[in-house]
Amino acid sequence: MDKFTLLAANAVILVVFSIAFLAAFRDMKRARYWRTWTVANLVLASALIFVFARAHLPAAVAHLVPNGLFLAGFALHWNAARQFAGNKPCGVRIWMPLTILVAAGLPALAMHDYALIYTVTSVMLSALAFGTAREYWDMKATHLSSRHGLTLAYVLVGISFLVRVIQGVANWQNVDIGLPSDAVQTFHMLISLIYVSASGAFSLAIAFEQAVAEQRDAAHRDPLTGVYNRREFELRLKALLSDEARKAFAVLQFDLDHFKQVNDRFGHVAGDEALQFCADLIKWHLRDEDCLARLGGEEFAAILPDVSQEDAVRIAEAIRQSVAEAPLDFAPAEFRLTLSAGVYHGTGGDLGHKGLMRCVDQGLYQSKNTGRNRVCLADAA
Ligand code: GH3
Ligand code: MG
Ligand code: MG
Repeated sequence: MDKFTLLAANAVILVVFSIAFLAAFRDMKRARYWRTWTVANLVLASALIFVFARAHLPAAVAHLVPNGLFLAGFALHWNAARQFAGNKPCGVRIWMPLTILVAAGLPALAMHDYALIYTVTSVMLSALAFGTAREYWDMKATHLSSRHGLTLAYVLVGISFLVRVIQGVANWQNVDIGLPSDAVQTFHMLISLIYVSASGAFSLAIAFEQAVAEQRDAAHRDPLTGVYNRREFELRLKALLSDEARKAFAVLQFDLDHFKQVNDRFGHVAGDEALQFCADLIKWHLRDEDCLARLGGEEFAAILPDVSQEDAVRIAEAIRQSVAEAPLDFAPAEFRLTLSAGVYHGTGGDLGHKGLMRCVDQGLYQSKNTGRNRVCLADAA
């Protein structure tokens, strides 16, 4: 394929993906990354159009404008990756390379030292590509497998820019508007083609993956408090009970005391705030491997795998005490909310998940019937 066919193919694919980003995300005002992807692709496509027209442009424009657009396009892609990961975009990434290009480019133009512009631009493009690759690579915790495709696409194009640096240094005297058409240039254009196709396709794929993961997670959670819902709690409890290798575990159940009075006295909005506050407080006392759920209303439950009876009771007691000591924003300073708890500890035996919940409920009712604001260990027998 000749140089112009490859350039045109790159530009067309960039524009097609820009349109695809717009179409796929036009309703997602919240996610800003897709807008940055769209603009970045259009900036890169316009850089390619300037490359097409280079021979007909004044030297300063021909050398600086396409390089500036390439730098801005890659910097925007880096910022889009940051936005995707939930971080703030960084303006320096755009202004710094452009400033360096102008600072190095103007004297280079005056001295007709075009290799300097070519090499400096390629170094910066390579750095921007590797920075973006790193951004996607660091999203390990998201478990989105499309990040591997994006990482690879940016590493590949970063390596290709590095090859151009070597080529620029080795051919310093022969650089005019870009390097002579040779095998390295064809290699770079083919890599670019792979990069624009792969980055576009995997960008759509990772956004789709993330949307699905968010939906799946939302289906498992209680919308008010963000902790798991009853369905997820029961699934996890059943899974634990069917695990032959399970160690002794605990199930804690909490019910806020006289919560109806909180609503009656301070209103439902305050009641909702109290529920969120208690969920956060309980969660703070639990380990990452524990599962906290809102069973409904003002009732919460937690599964604590692989824990001793002493630790389970100690944790429940610490939760009870924290709640009982915490002032609430919406209430007078002396007002205190309390909760009662039931604790089951054991290996489940042949109780089944319903039998086990009946058992822990019995511990909870013992707490309620003996004065509330206390923790009772359920009798598993
Ligand atoms: P007890 O000490 O016996 O548990 O008394 P209680 O008032 O906490 O128990 P009861 O079951 O009589 O009342 C529970 C209250 O919880 C009634 C309901 O208005 C309130 N509630 C349930 N879900 C929500 C919710 O999502 N938001 C708010 N604000 N209140 C809720
Ligand atoms: Mg209740
Ligand atoms: Mg209650």
